[in-house]
Parts: sequence; structure tokens; C-alpha cells
Amino acid sequence: MKSLRNAITLIVVALVLLSSSSLSRPAYVPVFGRFAILVHDVSPGYLPQLRQITAVIDEYGLQNETYLFVIPDHGGEMPIWKYREFMEFLEELRRKGYHIELHGYTHIGDEFSCNVSTAERKLELGLKALSYLNVTPKYFIAPRYSLSRDALSVLLWHNVTVIGEDFIYFPNGTVEPIYNREYTWYMPSFLLPYELTSAESAYANINGTFFLSLHPEAVNNKAGMKFLKEFLRFVSRSGLG
Ligand SMILES: [Zn+2]
Repeated sequence: MKSLRNAITLIVVALVLLSSSSLSRPAYVPVFGRFAILVHDVSPGYLPQLRQITAVIDEYGLQNETYLFVIPDHGGEMPIWKYREFMEFLEELRRKGYHIELHGYTHIGDEFSCNVSTAERKLELGLKALSYLNVTPKYFIAPRYSLSRDALSVLLWHNVTVIGEDFIYFPNGTVEPIYNREYTWYMPSFLLPYELTSAESAYANINGTFFLSLHPEAVNNKAGMKFLKEFLRFVSRSGLG
């Protein structure tokens, strides 16, 4: 009797695993292809870190695969248009093929967990800030991935696609699960081999789009930069097809 119960338990666990893995099977998002790098928190305060990150991306020729999520007025005290060197840096990256996108407005708290009118206002301000770079963003990531239903609707109405931690939301109403991971959040050196193996095997086994999220500062330590170099080399050798 006990062994039967154990067998049933095993079957149930297997079924749950099976169904959850098929439910969360990440989508292949054609506009991104096989691989995309999402750089969060692109703000004047991180200019040296961003230079270091993009130097590695340039080295592997992955500019077209890289999306820079800009905070238009970080903390309400760093309006990008007042930082000439930063604006020139973004302009240069855009010319090289990098994509310039939106990451909230001030990045204070859960600013996009808000009502329709606040979301409208913040989005308008963000669009205006990026217009100084002649950029109309196609994609949006909410600070801390925190987004109310109302704010999501506002973004979609404006034809902006929203990338969440686990899902992507298109203006036509479709929602798809995605594989979006950050391996380099202040990574201690001893974890480097593990994280690298784990990222490489995920890249090799996932049929969908692999989104690599990065934060300036968090990735800019010895292990983080080593991870980035090794993993981008692996991706460029494995091919983007
Ligand atoms: Zn952020």
C-alpha cells in the first residue's frame, strides 16, 4: 500500500513538472532572434561602467543584439539631456547598431505601479527625453519589473512592447513566456564556473529567445566581467541562428 502511494506521488510530481515545464516553455521572439542583451539602468551615473560593458559587447560584434534601457531622469535629479558626454555616448552607440529603449522615468520606487494618468505623463516625459536622441523606443522595462495593469495598457496603447521578468507583452494583445535571466548580480568569484556552465547549457537547450539581463555596477566586478566575456564568446561561436 505504501509503495503504491509512493508511486502515485511520483507520478503526480512528474506530471506537475511536465505541465509546468511546457507552460513556461520560452517563446522564440522573431524580432529578437536567438539572443538579446538587455542592459538595465542606463543612466549618466553609470557612464564608466557602461563604457566597460559596451567595450565587451563591441568586441564580440553584438551591438545589434543589445538593447539599452535608459532611465530618463534617474532619481529625479539626473535628466539625461543635461549630461552631454552621456548623450554623445548614447548617440555613438546608436550609430553602431545598439537599440535605445525606455526604463521607467525616474526609477524611484515602483513608479509604474500607477494609474493611467500618471503612466501617461511619465511615458510622455520619457519619450520627450529620448526624442533629443532622435529615438522612438519600441521596448519598455518597468523599474523593478513593477507594473500596474493600467500602466501596462498605457504602454501598449502607445505601441510599446513591454518586457517583463518572465513574459513579453505585445501591443496586439499577445503575451508570451520568455527566458530572461541575470547571471551577474554582484557575482562572487567562486560562482563563476557554475553560472557560466548554467548559462551555456541553457543557451544550448532553449529553443526560444535567450534574454541576458545586465545591470551596470552589478556586473562590473572581476567575476561579472569574466562571465560576460566568456559567455559572449560562447554565444558568438555557437551562432545566433
Ligand atoms: Zn532598473
